Amino acid sequence: MSFNQTIDHIHKVLTQIFREHPEYADKYKASPPVTWSWVAIETAQLMGTYPTGLTLAIVLSELEAMDRKIRVICPRQVNTLLLKQHSSNTLRRSDRVLCCPPTHECLWKLEPRDGPWIKEVFQDTFATVIQPQSMVLLSSAATKAKRHQLWVKVVHVEQLPADTGYGSNSGSRLASKNLQEKRTRKDIFVVDKSSDTEPALVSLYDQQAYLTRMIERGDYLGIFNPVVAYKHTESQATQADIVFECGPETVLFVMSNSDAVEAGVAKVQPLSDQAIITEELQEDCHDDVITSRESATSSQEQKPPVYDFWQQQKSTIVAPKKRPIMRRDDEGLMDCLAYVPRLMISDLEQNMLNITISGQVVAKANNNPFLSEGRSMDRFAMRIKDESGKMDVTLWEQSCIHAKNISIGQRIILTGLSTSVQHKSLKGKTTWYINGSAVCGTTAYNLSTLECLLVSSDFLHLTPLHTIQGDGQWETEATIVGWKIRTTNTRQPTLYSNECPVNDDYVNEGFDLSEYLVAQKHRECSEILKGDDYCNYCGIKVRECDRVLGFRSRKCLSESETTTAKIGWIEWRLDNGRGILYARGCENTLLGCEAEQFQTIPMKSQTRLLDSVISKQIICSISSVVTTVANIN
Ligand SMILES: [Zn+2]
Ligand SMILES: [Zn+2]
Repeated sequence: MSFNQTIDHIHKVLTQIFREHPEYADKYKASPPVTWSWVAIETAQLMGTYPTGLTLAIVLSELEAMDRKIRVICPRQVNTLLLKQHSSNTLRRSDRVLCCPPTHECLWKLEPRDGPWIKEVFQDTFATVIQPQSMVLLSSAATKAKRHQLWVKVVHVEQLPADTGYGSNSGSRLASKNLQEKRTRKDIFVVDKSSDTEPALVSLYDQQAYLTRMIERGDYLGIFNPVVAYKHTESQATQADIVFECGPETVLFVMSNSDAVEAGVAKVQPLSDQAIITEELQEDCHDDVITSRESATSSQEQKPPVYDFWQQQKSTIVAPKKRPIMRRDDEGLMDCLAYVPRLMISDLEQNMLNITISGQVVAKANNNPFLSEGRSMDRFAMRIKDESGKMDVTLWEQSCIHAKNISIGQRIILTGLSTSVQHKSLKGKTTWYINGSAVCGTTAYNLSTLECLLVSSDFLHLTPLHTIQGDGQWETEATIVGWKIRTTNTRQPTLYSNECPVNDDYVNEGFDLSEYLVAQKHRECSEILKGDDYCNYCGIKVRECDRVLGFRSRKCLSESETTTAKIGWIEWRLDNGRGILYARGCENTLLGCEAEQFQTIPMKSQTRLLDSVISKQIICSISSVVTTVANIN
């Protein structure tokens, strides 16, 4: 896998630069090391942004500069005033005399010695919270709003995918009631002292949303006099019963987990619940299609990913078959954000966060919506394979777009995934799932469509065509020496080819190759539509504006394989002088013609266009998954 090897190399060089270069040597000791996942994601992003002209040297210097930026930004100290240090000469001047504008957007940081005060002030739990809608019904004496004072633990801080930037997540925006403007919202999931309540949300808006950069999972928050939201938006209502917001009278306090433990204000762990069980995971080996029966998402036992962030305390921890790659935190979670080497699929176990994996998509399942309280959540599964093994990844809601944008056989790098707690099925089997969702910051890059990997000599690793065999993905160089129109008709598997001239009778009858080769597709997922308007993959009726004409690039399973149906595709014959390979795909690029255009030209011109591809020399990315004919990407 050439991309992974490139990343291995960049990772090694970058680590060396930071360890040995005198400019960074001191910082290196004090800061988190360079992780493989960070290098991979940033490089994939650079390659996507600059398809041409990118070299190894440019990637290295870009990453070096980026990494320096990360070291300078120190989110947890952004609003800390170092008044006592004003005359200290050991600190940099900028740290001592920095001026900030007056603002309500601040967090009060508590220390262990604040313990007694915390116990005295923050007495409320979720059970004593009075919802505004119930206040109306109370007597006039009680209509004066209750002042809530809560001490809560952060179980999840909403993340945004790296490439969307701050506050541009359209899913988290809502129209403000008075002004018809869009507001940015960030949610913090919190639990109270009791272990049996579901989490509440602390929703922060616009400028306030920046405060989430100073709050981490595991921290404690003191919420003094919050606004208990009256009208929840749909996204809030599906995630929690109680939603707190920060009004002008609200004060937010924050305390780290270790300080809370020292001060005696930490949540007590229900340790007795954590029984140890061992269970072998079932290995299934059907790579062709994930059927609904064997799919990881076939059951309703699987829960939305955010659900897992507070459920792990009640779950049982499976004794791992091998040594875990990292220590688990107090909550029993393994956060892979700072894991330095490349994470392999075989390293995964339950209750992990911030997972990045790089592999090939070997199977995809149709949308299998999760139904909960009358609401349906989209759920797409993909089977990903790397050098160590394969597993199903479930993408939820908005993150589904990453499943729609990739075809079987292509390579992908997925980041921001998490693994679930153990779920018990009705039959008593236990299993866990790999989940991705926009809330957790899941994002993905399709490596097979990165032009950069083909055009830049620094990243191109060519495999000679005649040595390609089996399943996998390669970059190769070849000449196109022939074409065939293949059909599903078993009596006539080859309709035409460059070697058999077109029968004039057919031409006179108005015979049209596009009847075989061109079909209506769903714009979002490129799946061929069934009955002209239904997408089997997404499980929806597709509106006219979302339909596009496209070349059939493979036999489509959603279409019936009758001998009468006109279903066909182009098969290219590739030759490098020492071997031959049959492949399909890339019709638009090779023909230099869109499917819509191809449909409008006469048969003679269609075959002339196909003939014009012969003797073209190409560098392409080829993938193969249990097929004898490879796909060109
Ligand atoms: Zn679709
Ligand atoms: Zn549309």
